[in-house]
Amino acid sequence: MKLTELERIHVGYLDTPLEYMPNLTKELGKGKLYVKRDDMTGLAFGGNKARKLDYLVKDALDHGYNALMTFGGVQTNHGRMTVAAAVRYNMKPILVLTGPKPDYCSGNLILDRMMGADVHFIDTTAYADLPEPEKSEKTAAFLAQETEKIVAEYEKQGIHPYNVPVGGSSLVGAAGYINAIPEIMKQMKEQGIEAKYLVCGYGSMGTFGGLLAGAKYFKAPFEVIGIPVSPAYRSPEQVAEFIDKLSAEYELGIHVTPEEVRIETGTPEEPYYGIAYNVPDPVTQQYMALLARTEGLFTDPCYTGKIFHGFVDLVRSGKIPEGENAIFLHSGGTPAIWSKEHLDAAQEIFYDGEGLFVHKA
Ligand SMILES: *Cc1c(COP(=O)(O)O)cnc(C)c1O
Repeated sequence: MKLTELERIHVGYLDTPLEYMPNLTKELGKGKLYVKRDDMTGLAFGGNKARKLDYLVKDALDHGYNALMTFGGVQTNHGRMTVAAAVRYNMKPILVLTGPKPDYCSGNLILDRMMGADVHFIDTTAYADLPEPEKSEKTAAFLAQETEKIVAEYEKQGIHPYNVPVGGSSLVGAAGYINAIPEIMKQMKEQGIEAKYLVCGYGSMGTFGGLLAGAKYFKAPFEVIGIPVSPAYRSPEQVAEFIDKLSAEYELGIHVTPEEVRIETGTPEEPYYGIAYNVPDPVTQQYMALLARTEGLFTDPCYTGKIFHGFVDLVRSGKIPEGENAIFLHSGGTPAIWSKEHLDAAQEIFYDGEGLFVHKA
C-alpha cells in the first residue's frame, strides 16, 4: 500500500508545536536549540505513541476488533496511551505487563486502572537469577504462553483483542513517524528554522526507524540521531532491516545502510541510558532539572530525561558541530515522574538544599 493511501484516525492533536528554547540555547552557548513537542499530542497526557495509534486503531477498527491489547513494562507509557485510545473508540483496554504486581499503584499504572483497563501481570521473577540467554528465552516463552491463554479466555467471551506490539512499533505504527517528517519540514519552513540535526529516543524502534525512513523519503534537511534508552538496544543492521521492510510495505523506494543509522550512547563512564531501563539514576535527574529550570519543561526519568541528556551532550561535546542548530524530539512520558520508584529517588535530589525554607509559627 502506498503511504499516501494509508488512512489514519486522530487519537490526539497534531501538528505538535515546534518551539525555540532560548534559555537553554544561551546556557549551552552553541547553536540554536529547538524542541518538537510530541509530549503535547494530547491523548492521556500525550507522548509519541499517539502518532502510531492513529494508524494502529484505524487498522483494528477496519478489521472488526473490539479490544486493544498491548504489552510492556509495568510503567509503560505506550500502555497508558493505548488504553486511552481503546476507551475513546469503545474497545476493551487490556494490558499484559511483564513484572511482579507492585504493592503500590502509581504513575502510569494508576492512570491505566482509572481508565478501566484489565491488567495482567506476567511475573517472571522465578527466572531472575538465570544466566542469559536462558533468562530472556524463558521469560519470552512464559509471556507467549500466558498471552495465548489470556487471548483464548477473552475470545470465549466474544472479546477480540487486536494485538498492538510492544511500543506500537509494527510497520503500521511506524507510519506515524514517517509522516512526522513532512510536518517538521513544513514547520521549519514556516518559522524560518534551519537545523541539521533531529535527536530522538530509540526504544522499540518505531520512532527512530520511522523518522529515518521519512527523512530519507522526504529528503529532510537534517540528520536523525537515535539515543537508546536501555543498554539492550538493537544494532544499526536491525534498524536498516526495519527500514527496508517499511520501504517495501509503503512503496517508498528507499534504502538506508547500517552506516547511515546514527546511534549515540555516550561514554562507558556516562552512558545516556543511565544504569538500566527504568532504573532511577541521579545523572538523568540532573538533566531533567536542567531543562526544567531553563525552559520550564518536563522530561521523564525513564525515557526523555535520558534522551535529553544525549541531546545536550552531543551539543556540548561538539558531536553536533559548534554553531549548528538542532531539534530535540520530546516524546512524552511525563506521568512516570510520579511513579513510586522515581519519586522516591527524587526526594534526596530535589527536596533538600538551597532555596528550601520553612517558616514555623
Ligand atoms: C516509547 C517511548 C520512547 C521510545 O519510542 P520507540 O518508538 O519505542 O523507540 C521514547 N520516549 C517515550 C516517552 C516513550 O514512551
